[in-house]
Amino acid sequence: MIETTHSLIKRASSKLGYNEKTVQALLKTDAEHVFEIKLKNGKNFKAYRVQHSNKLGPYKGGIRFHPKVDLDEARALATLMSLKTAVVGLPMGGSKGGVAVDPKLLSDAELEELSRAYVRALARHIGPDKDVPAPDVNTDSKVIDWMVDEYFKISGDSTKASFTGKSVKNGGILGREEATGRGGVIALRELLKHLGKSDKALTYALQGFGNVGSFFALIAQEEQPQWKLLCVSDSSAAVYSDQGLSAKKINDFKLQGGKLSDYEETGTQIISSEELIGRDVDILVLAALGDAVTAKNMNEVKSRYVVEMANGPLDEAANDFLTKKGLVILPDIVANAGGVIVSYLEWLQNKTARHWPEAKVNSQLEKYMIKTVDDVYKTAISRKLSLKEAAVIIALKRLAQE
Ligand code: NAD
Repeated sequence: MIETTHSLIKRASSKLGYNEKTVQALLKTDAEHVFEIKLKNGKNFKAYRVQHSNKLGPYKGGIRFHPKVDLDEARALATLMSLKTAVVGLPMGGSKGGVAVDPKLLSDAELEELSRAYVRALARHIGPDKDVPAPDVNTDSKVIDWMVDEYFKISGDSTKASFTGKSVKNGGILGREEATGRGGVIALRELLKHLGKSDKALTYALQGFGNVGSFFALIAQEEQPQWKLLCVSDSSAAVYSDQGLSAKKINDFKLQGGKLSDYEETGTQIISSEELIGRDVDILVLAALGDAVTAKNMNEVKSRYVVEMANGPLDEAANDFLTKKGLVILPDIVANAGGVIVSYLEWLQNKTARHWPEAKVNSQLEKYMIKTVDDVYKTAISRKLSLKEAAVIIALKRLAQE
C-alpha cells in the first residue's frame, strides 16, 4: 500500500511539474512514533503513530488494533489521510496509528489497559490542536471513550476534542456511524448527475456488508431506489438475485449475527465471495478491504463504474487497467471521505461546546461531498485526467502550498 500511495503522489506531482525536492517533501512523514506497550500481565505489543502532514491543520487519523499493523501500513494510511482531508477542504492534516494486536484475544480489562497505555505513551504528541485520533479497524467508541478519559487525566483537557468517534453521551456526534456510507451514496449520486445518469435504473454489487457497506446499501435503498442491489458479500460468501435484494432484510439478518453463506430467501442464490467481482452489474461498490481487485481478477470486472468505499481496494495495476478500459472509478479519498468529514464536525462541535441535531450534521456532510465531487469532476474534465488523478492533484496543490 505504501508503494501504491507513493506512486500516486509521484505521478500526480509529475503532472504538476513539481521538482524532486517538493515531491520528497510530500512523501516524507513529519513524525513516526514507534513504541512498545507492556501490559501488567507481561503481554507485549508493538505500537505506532505516524504523523504525515499538519500543513492544513491538526493531524487527523484513526487507530487500528490488528495483528497486521506495521510501520509501512501506518505510513501509507497517514499519507492517504492527508490527501483525503486536503481534497475535501478540511482544516486538518493526516496521521494514522495502531497496535499490532488481535483484540479478540484480549479480555475487556486488557483492552482498556492497552488503550489507556497507548494514550499515555503518546500524550505529548496528540491533543485537540496537535493530533486528533479516531476509531479505525477493531476500535470503536468504547475504546475511544477510555482514551479520552486517559487524555483528560494527563492533560486536564475537558473539551473532549482530543479524539473523535466518541459515544454520543460522551461528546460524540450524531450520524457518525452512518457517515461513511452516507457520504458514498452522495458522492455516487453527484458523479452520476455530472455524467447525465441521475435517473437511470442501474444495478450494483456490493463487496463487504460491514459498517460502511451496510449503511451505503440502506441509505441507497431509501434515497436512490433506482439503484438495484443484485449482489452482496461478506467474508463468508455472496448472495445474488437478478430480481434485486432488500438491503434491510440483509441488514436484519447480519444484525442477528448471521453469515451470508447461511442466508436463505426464495429467488436468491449463494455464490462465493470472489464471484461477486465478475457479476454483470453497472456499478461495483468495494467496501471490504484493500487490494480486493488486482492483476489476478481485474479481467473479471464487467461493471462500468467502480466505487472505492474501502481504502485502496484497487491496486495500481487494476486501477490502471480498468481506467484504460474506460471504467469510471470514484476514488477512495473522495468516496469514503464522509467519515472524516463528520469526525471533523465532531471536533468542531466539541471545540465550540455545541451539540448539533443529526439533520444539521447530514446537511453539512452533503455540502462537503457535493463540492468535492464537483471540484474533482471539473478538474478531471478540464485536465483530461481520471477522477483519481484529479483528486490527488487537488490535494497536492493544497498540501504543497508554501
Ligand atoms: P467492517 O469490518 O465493519 O466491514 C468489513 C466487511 O467486509 C465485513 O462485512 C467483512 O465480512 C467483509 N469482508 C472482509 N473480507 C471480505 C472479502 N474477502 N470479501 C467480501 N467481504 C469481505 O469495516 P468497515 O468499517 O465497514 O470498513 C470497510 C472498509 O472501509 C475498510 O477498508 C476501511 O478502512 C474503510 N473505511 C472505513 C471508514 C469507516 O468510517 N468505518 C471510513 C473510511 C474508510
